[in-house]
Amino acid sequence: VVTRRPEVEESRLLLPIVTEEQPIVETILLNTVVVICGETGSGKTTQVPQFLFEAGFGSPDSDNPGMIGITQPRRVAAMSMASRVAQELSLPSSRVSYQIRYDATVSPSTSIKFMTDGVLLRELASDFLLSKYSVLIIDEAHERSMNTDILIGVLSRVVKLRESLWREPLRIVIMSATLRISDFVENPTLFATPPPVIKVPARQHPVTVHFNRRTLSDYVGEAIRKASKIHARLPPGGILIFLTGQNEISGVCRRLEERYGAQSLAERRKRRKGTQVGLDAQRFFRNDGDHDTVVDFEAEEMDLGGGSGDDLAFDVEDGLKDEKDVDMDALDTDDEAQGEDQALVPMHILPLYSLLPTEKQMKVFEPSPAGTRLVVVATNVAETSLTIPGIRYVIDCGRAKERRYNLADGIQSFQISWISKASAAQRAGRAGRTGPGHCYRLYSSAVFENYFEQFSQPEILRVPIEGVVLQMKCMHIDSVANFPFPTPPDRQSLRQAEKMLTYLGALETPSITTSCNAAGGAVTDVGRTMSLFPLSPRFSKMLVSSRDPFLREEALGVEERSGGDEDLAHISGEKVQSEESSKLRRREYFRSQQCHASLGNSTSDLFRMLSVVGAYEYAGGGRSFCTEHFVMPKAMEEIHKLRAQISDIVRAHFPDADAGFTPKIPPPQDFQLRVLRQLITSCFVDQVAVRKDLVEKDSATGVQRTTAKRVAYRALGVSEDVYIHPSSVLATTSPPEYVVYHEVVRTSQVWLKGLTLINPA
Ligand code: ADP
Ligand code: MG
Repeated sequence: VVTRRPEVEESRLLLPIVTEEQPIVETILLNTVVVICGETGSGKTTQVPQFLFEAGFGSPDSDNPGMIGITQPRRVAAMSMASRVAQELSLPSSRVSYQIRYDATVSPSTSIKFMTDGVLLRELASDFLLSKYSVLIIDEAHERSMNTDILIGVLSRVVKLRESLWREPLRIVIMSATLRISDFVENPTLFATPPPVIKVPARQHPVTVHFNRRTLSDYVGEAIRKASKIHARLPPGGILIFLTGQNEISGVCRRLEERYGAQSLAERRKRRKGTQVGLDAQRFFRNDGDHDTVVDFEAEEMDLGGGSGDDLAFDVEDGLKDEKDVDMDALDTDDEAQGEDQALVPMHILPLYSLLPTEKQMKVFEPSPAGTRLVVVATNVAETSLTIPGIRYVIDCGRAKERRYNLADGIQSFQISWISKASAAQRAGRAGRTGPGHCYRLYSSAVFENYFEQFSQPEILRVPIEGVVLQMKCMHIDSVANFPFPTPPDRQSLRQAEKMLTYLGALETPSITTSCNAAGGAVTDVGRTMSLFPLSPRFSKMLVSSRDPFLREEALGVEERSGGDEDLAHISGEKVQSEESSKLRRREYFRSQQCHASLGNSTSDLFRMLSVVGAYEYAGGGRSFCTEHFVMPKAMEEIHKLRAQISDIVRAHFPDADAGFTPKIPPPQDFQLRVLRQLITSCFVDQVAVRKDLVEKDSATGVQRTTAKRVAYRALGVSEDVYIHPSSVLATTSPPEYVVYHEVVRTSQVWLKGLTLINPA
């Protein structure tokens, strides 16, 4: 028996999904897999678990005694939704609980459990039948995170197993904020019979979309400007500002608070009594440029939606117009709101992002103080995960911080990039929950049309494939090539990835019997350790970043011409001057290259890199180091950060390894170089090149030559002759016999880069 407080009952009745309770419960009882689509804010996350709870799911004495499990892509959502549902049901957190990686309120009496998708994936590894659950709700499926996609694939099989092995079936509910669900519904490999789809009618008011005429790179300053104008000129209603990360958000909150916080407004009024003073636009709107580039590999802490999907709120597009066409509410005029702050109500300003403590996040759901205007400054957590009441104006910077993978080396980083059109529509829709609203896009319609993808790609297609395979193997998914992905990666590349992982020792070599059924080997201890690192398996085995930081010789010339010597341009003998300085710089360049190549006697491009990284760390980094050593500052910084982060991971997982991050890397000793060479060779066993004259007797080139220039090589799996790239330390020595290489680059010829000599003298 469920008891809810009257005010809870009242606000529930306003949610569109509540009228659908009966059809939803019936459909779930009659089908093992059901898809529910509904606009953000329609009540999916908070209400569907309650419907099931009232229907008896999760109660020990019912037909469905197992728990109700709900997965979320973000920790914020798992925690705040658990507390909200507990509150609505008047139950303690031991009954409606959450579990995230390092924290949980679950107990033996838990009936409803919110968790991150990562938590459920780990549970699958130890209990494949998910015997504790009677129903699992996969929420925010439209985001198409890798975890969600893999979960849905695995669950499609668990459902079948439970049907055949157990009396009590497992039910799956897939919930999406968009109608883009064909990958789940029209996918016979995943679900042989298409699951029924329930569409929750949207209760969405029209939203007028205004594009900026110009797209400024200082979107942070622009967001503040826009919020100020809305506040000064437009009727009451909350403002929701979408930015990309924590630093930006804190900065904007601070500056809005300085200007429009209750306290500062009061103080200013006291000081200025009666005088009319305009906004100090210069001071206020300056660019603080605090783009947040913190790298964070903890999947569950991600602030990103990667949102994709059809827009349920079609009104949003109907209202589409460029701001130049609007006059009534144009906010782009340049007359500053002269003295209007005299009459302003204070802003009630709240930040919202994943890493904000829960109590602070929950403040967005509390009514704002009387006589204030709510202003929420958020990441795309507010795009679909959390619905903030009372928003009438949305300011959308059009960008999001997204996890990016370098497909070559698997190195992950967070980068700010344009969102998809579908995400932009979701953001605009947030303004139409309470009544008609407005969305101000801080970019032009041309940028929107030309640079925004329709939908963002499922994450699984954006990550290096070996990484996906290794992760899945760690989840005990043996037959990766036959896995029922919602959107399958290319099957051939999956097989290749498995082969490569076997070479690396990450997977067991399949025995003759198992290789018949095409399933690859199980993950080894080495493989499990490799999976801890945010690198492609090749590099995680080696733990070397190989983004080449060295400037090329050609780059010197360019720099010379556009560089600091321009002052000399009119001095007589200018040509002589510049030739002299260019010669000088060239000499320094080769001296520096020589110096770093000497680590390991010019036998490995990776050692040369190790040398410069060591020197950089020893010098404490800095731009002048980079100029002096002809390396790219950005690449060096990235390597530095990555090294610190990897050291942290090593320390966290192997406390005995004595692998603390020492800022200074001592130069490797000979035996360490020997081990490194073996390691590099073992990581690139499938990328070996041999001097051509050694394999084809009639092509007797190379042996007599003093450099590798124009000496042909044969590489495994490459049908044409290949050549050592001039940037390699091995290009200027006598042509080596066997090398391993990092990459093959095709220009006028096919070049090998990132070389290491296998068998030095
Ligand atoms: P959906 O999952 O369909 O996006 P939700 O179930 O998250 O919708 O939200 C339904 C409604 O409940 C929204 O209007 C939201 O504002 C409200 N709500 C959600 N969490 C809380 C909370 N902690 N406090 C107050 N209201 C909340
Ligand atoms: Mg939701």
